[in-house]
Amino acid sequence: MSYYHIWSIGCQMNKAYSEQLAIDLERLGYRSTGAIEEADIAVINSCVVRQSAENRVLSKLDSLIPLKRVNPDTVVALAGCMVDAGIAELRRRFSHVDLFLKPGESAELLDLARARAPEGMQDSTPLPLPPSAFVTIIEGCDNFCSYCIVPYRRGRERSRPLAEIRSQVEGLVERGVKQVTLLGQNVDSYGYDLPGMPDLADLLEELNSIEDLMRIRFLTSHPKDMNQKLIRAVASLDKVCESISLPVQTGDDEILQAMGRGYTAQDYRELVEQIRGNVPGVALSTDVIVGFPGETEVQFQRTLDLLSSIRFDTVHVAAYSPRSGTLASREFEDDVPPSEKKRRLQKVEELECQIASEINAQLLGQKVEVLVEGDKKGKWWGRTRTGKLVFFNDDSSRLGQLVAVEIEKTSPWSLQGVFEHKHSL
Ligand code: SAM
Ligand code: SF4
Repeated sequence: MSYYHIWSIGCQMNKAYSEQLAIDLERLGYRSTGAIEEADIAVINSCVVRQSAENRVLSKLDSLIPLKRVNPDTVVALAGCMVDAGIAELRRRFSHVDLFLKPGESAELLDLARARAPEGMQDSTPLPLPPSAFVTIIEGCDNFCSYCIVPYRRGRERSRPLAEIRSQVEGLVERGVKQVTLLGQNVDSYGYDLPGMPDLADLLEELNSIEDLMRIRFLTSHPKDMNQKLIRAVASLDKVCESISLPVQTGDDEILQAMGRGYTAQDYRELVEQIRGNVPGVALSTDVIVGFPGETEVQFQRTLDLLSSIRFDTVHVAAYSPRSGTLASREFEDDVPPSEKKRRLQKVEELECQIASEINAQLLGQKVEVLVEGDKKGKWWGRTRTGKLVFFNDDSSRLGQLVAVEIEKTSPWSLQGVFEHKHSL
């Protein structure tokens, strides 16, 4: 038996890549191992969106040096956003790495894996899949927000043809998948580069007709590109979940402009009003950066005000981290001290903790519909249509089922409940 290990951090696009790579390696007869030192193929799927992520990748890469020394036949591959055009430089820095795979690329690794695949195991029947899968629908990003490295590493926007996505989702559903999450850095610009220019709403409608698929999610949306047609599609298509990820980044117009986001705080507020007016009960999540160059206390307060008035279900907050090669790192001084960035980050977290605990408390005593995605520490877990994480006990296997759960306990991050019955509410 030959084994693979994939170590992955970063965005959902990286998760999707790792999931697909695992499927492809399983098809070649490889099996997963939790111990990287036992692996015949070790993949580090990297993220460099912030310095903290990059540091974790570097330390993981360092930890593989002795492994490669002891077992030189292990194939070590570095994938994801750390791999840019300068592969010669990467090769020099990380001489123990055999393959450098740019974001989304896997052919070179799979060719090597095929050549070394265990005898007689190739194309063995793939294992059943978990109930939820990621499907990338658009690669790259054309937005060039001033702080962001992604367009430099993942290239320009490339949409996958609608028919190709449909056929992939049908294949996943045949193997047991019940929910797909459509992914892209900016899913709202899906299709503009395709013949006939289908858009995300068209794609959602197409996928909504797939029998046995229960739920469809998508992320991430860009506030400047989300339109009325997409909002109507979310409101009307029964499998599309009422959950939207809409990064705002800051509540201050001057900073929004310096970030190159293409909207004002007021535009954003109006968009949220439109979404909430059309999609009752919709859950909204957002991303925020604190400590952007030049951010004053007053400007930071505008972000807090926006978060307090919109009341998001989830907020992902990050301290600004200069990324070499971006406009912000060239033109703006990183002048908010680390201790101040940390304080602002904690302020946002405290505020959101309070808001999320109040939002979730409203679900106490209610019956919610949960798609069960797995078990952890003896409890089943799954999500509501709005993406709330729910835990419950039941002796029967509930994996992949839609169940009704009555909520007994809530926290800002998850809900606990009692299993009521299967499927119908
Ligand atoms: N495309 C999405 C958008 O429009 O926001 C998000 C993709 S980005 C890779 C994920 C998140 O990382 C961003 O929303 C932002 O909050 C954060 N991020 C990106 N660059 C950053 C930087 N230089 N410093 C801190 N956070 C950053
Ligand atoms: Fe980065 Fe902006 Fe593109 Fe999001 S939209 S990936 S933040 S450049």
